Formats: sequence, structure tokens, C-alpha cells
Amino acid sequence: MTVAIYKRVLLKLSGEALMGEDKYGINQAVMRRIVLEIEEISKLGVEVAVVVGGGNIFRGMKSANDALERVTADYMGMLATVMNALALQDAMKVIGLMPRIQSALRIDQVVEPYVRARAIQYLIDKKIVIFAAGTGNPFFTTDTAAALRGMEMNVDIMLKATKVDGIYTSDPKVNPDATRFHKLSFDEAIAKNLQVMDATALTLCRDQKMLLNVFSIFKAGALKRIIVGEDEGTIVTV
Ligand code: UDP
Repeated sequence: MTVAIYKRVLLKLSGEALMGEDKYGINQAVMRRIVLEIEEISKLGVEVAVVVGGGNIFRGMKSANDALERVTADYMGMLATVMNALALQDAMKVIGLMPRIQSALRIDQVVEPYVRARAIQYLIDKKIVIFAAGTGNPFFTTDTAAALRGMEMNVDIMLKATKVDGIYTSDPKVNPDATRFHKLSFDEAIAKNLQVMDATALTLCRDQKMLLNVFSIFKAGALKRIIVGEDEGTIVTV
């Protein structure tokens, strides 16, 4: 029998993951594949919370310019994550999962606000909680939101889904000799500036001793393999 080694997890899905090979927006076929992967681990009894990014629609830092303040751009970025969360919610409903979105910014007609106790109850009830709008603050990223919500939800591990199957010594697309780390410490990841996540998110994880696994969401079955304790991607520990 396949047994999950984690009871509760936080999955960080970047906006890019939802884009697939497209240049912008949401690729429905990719979205469907991702929700099926989530269903696989949910079936094992794992409680799943998701933080979704917004980079496939809008990125604050890149978009700020003379006519658009950084803070405004960041709010736009956070709203982009709400759009992704809505799409993710519908894709989950189609396959029979029970998603609930909670937003760090209040848009009450559209999604409910973040309430920690309610989110935890949803997880206990085996609903998938999708956290939208990042931390609700400009100058942060959804990686930091993922670390934060993961800690608030007392998850056993944060799973960062990327396009690459783990953390490499350098960018494997640029350097064919780059090798993958199976295991790494937060201090090493920060010191080597390995572009895993931003330093705020990494430091938060390190200080709270939150386990992190970086893996490719495009590799079929990878998410489930992590959940059952197989060596997949890169694991980052204190
Ligand atoms: N953002 C923000 N505060 C947060 C989270 C996100 O201001 O707590 C904004 C920021 O502009 C960011 C955008 O939302 O560029 C989209 O988030 P992110 O870049 O983290 O998305 P991802 O790279 O995961 O797709």
C-alpha cells in the first residue's frame, strides 16, 4: 500500500507553472494536469494548501516604471494571483475536489478573506485551501507568502513546484554541466545565491525549520513521489 509520509503540505504553484509553454496567461490543459496531480496526493489522505503566484499575468517589480508606482504594480500582481486562484478553483471543482480560496486582500464578493482558524478547519475537512493575493503586502513575493502560510498552517513540508526538477549548481538550461543537488541546507542555498526562492522566503523557512522540496510540476507523478518519501527534486533542510 502507498503511504504518505506527510500529513499536511503547502504547495507553491508559480504563475509560470500554469502557463505551460505559452507566453502568457493560463493553459487549461496544463492546469488540468496539475489538479490531477493534486488529486493523487489528496486521495492518499494528505491535507493540501496551495499558494498560487501571478507571474503569468503580472509581475510588480518588472512592470513598475515612471508612470506606474512599484506599490501599485505590486497590488496589480497580487490581483493577478486572485485570477489564477479562481481558475485553479474551477479546474479543481471539475474533477470533484473541494477547493476554498482565501485572499490576503479583501474582495468579499469574489473570495473569502484569509482567516487562519477557518483555513485550518477546511484542511481538516479535506478541502483544498488556495491562498490568493500573496501576503497582502507590496514588496513581497508569493514564495514568501507560501513560507508564511505554510508556517501558519503548521504544514510538514513546503513543496515548491517549478519548471526545473530541483536545484542545480547553476542554470541547467545555460550550463549543460550543471548538476542537481539532492539535499541542501538553507544556509548553503542563501550563501550560493542559487535562485531557489527569494532570501526572505528562504530565511523564514530556515528560522522556523520548515522542510522544503523543490521539484518539477511538469514531471508526471513527481508530487506523489515526494509525498511517499521518494527522492525527487531537491530537499532543503536546516
Ligand atoms: N506580490 C506582492 N506581495 C506579495 C505577493 C506578490 O506584491 O505578498 C506581487 C508582486 O508584484 C509579484 C506579483 O504579485 O511580482 C506576482 O507574484 P510572484 O511574482 O511571486 O508570482 P510567481 O513568480 O510565483 O508567479
